[in-house]
Amino acid sequence: MDQSLPTTHSTQEWQALEAAYHMPPFSDYKSLHEQGTRMITRAEGHYIYDTEGNQILDAMAGLWCVNVGYGREELVEAAAAQMRQLPYYNAFFKTSHPAVAKLSEKLASLTPEGLSHVFYANSGSEANDTIIRMVRHFWALEGKPEKRVIIGRDYGYHGSTILAASMGGMSGMHHQAANEADFTHIKPPYGFLYQGNQSEDMFAKTAAGWLEDAILAHGADKIGAFVAEPIQGAGGVIVPPKGYFAYIQEICQKYDILFIADEVITGFGRTGKWFASEAMDLRPDMMTLAKGLTSGYVPMSAVMVGDRVFTSLKEKGGEFYHGFTYSGHPVAAAVALANLQIIEDEDLLTKVEEETGPYLKEALAPLADHALVGEVRTYGLLACVELVKDKNGPVLFENTGETAEIVRDHAIASGLMVRAVRDGMILSPPLTFGKADIDEVVVKLTSALDVTATQLGMV
Ligand SMILES: *Cc1c(COP(=O)(O)O)cnc(C)c1O
Repeated sequence: MDQSLPTTHSTQEWQALEAAYHMPPFSDYKSLHEQGTRMITRAEGHYIYDTEGNQILDAMAGLWCVNVGYGREELVEAAAAQMRQLPYYNAFFKTSHPAVAKLSEKLASLTPEGLSHVFYANSGSEANDTIIRMVRHFWALEGKPEKRVIIGRDYGYHGSTILAASMGGMSGMHHQAANEADFTHIKPPYGFLYQGNQSEDMFAKTAAGWLEDAILAHGADKIGAFVAEPIQGAGGVIVPPKGYFAYIQEICQKYDILFIADEVITGFGRTGKWFASEAMDLRPDMMTLAKGLTSGYVPMSAVMVGDRVFTSLKEKGGEFYHGFTYSGHPVAAAVALANLQIIEDEDLLTKVEEETGPYLKEALAPLADHALVGEVRTYGLLACVELVKDKNGPVLFENTGETAEIVRDHAIASGLMVRAVRDGMILSPPLTFGKADIDEVVVKLTSALDVTATQLGMV
């Protein structure tokens, strides 16, 4: 590989190329280039490096995906070997290949019982679009084609294609013509905003009741599915109260509504189990997988299809008119298999469940006393430090997101990559993170909070 490439241009020259030609995702093209883009040239272990020579601890694992960390030769070798043997062949027209057959068997064995078949795509968005079509196809086969409405949740994120964004509850995305028909949303089980003085179980019941209200408002005969991330990720690491999903699943069963778990973030060890479904005792009819499936080394996503839906599709027959050129790409499948092997060989689930998950919770807990902090939430290796203007109330900042962005910029300047969601500081580090890495996060994040509080005249 040409390691010298980044040094052939200065930072300013790279930034000029960016500004001239590249339209990055989720960007305001007016303000984007005023500051200049940070150019990341390489990564190793838990650190990323930019063209200025800065070393930054990546507490976001890229974008919630580099679960086994950077620089994994096993994944490079798996991709190279597969490219040499069979770089591409499609899975259309009754052909397939060994890598995808083996991966399918593996995923069926790792996911909860009853999820035994896999449909592949290249991104979480495509996988969720696949699910929407499959839900419609399923109910049509069942003789109930009018069951088309899918209920999602506010702040839910299911991707950025038109239908996935419609299913998600990010209202900013709905304005961009993504509020297609047949989707509706309920409030999330966001205790920080909605629990008040209810007990945890009472709040679990209340929040699950919002689903029943929505079903009754539309009529159960119109509702095809309910979709939920077990822990809402891009919505701000919203951890449901204990018991929430038990009530939710009862309601889905009562009204015969499919239950879809979007495990794009929570899958592959992030919660200390292979899937949050296992940790939270969920029995979804379908499950979305992406991100950690390949640790982000190459794109791949998958839909786990439960026996009820698969059996109907198989027994009733008729083509499922759907798929992508790269569905089940052999190189991605080979990388996914090698990635799962690393998670097993290094026993990363036990590490997260017994060691680093509890340690992250303990290490972040003192931040709850910080003047800027309203709540600290963690689950496995996911965390949100939610900022407030005033702890009493709590009172949120009027200009949502402004303060978190200041904290984020201070953190990055000190060598820590975190993400800001509204006014929450988000952490989703590689599962290979050790206690020393967590200590470094806490020191740098605390200092970023201190500097921000001083800057805002809060202390
Ligand atoms: C990231 C994400 C998606 C979308 O995945 P893309 O690969 O970006 O299309 C879907 N669902 C959840 C929960 C996600 O976090």
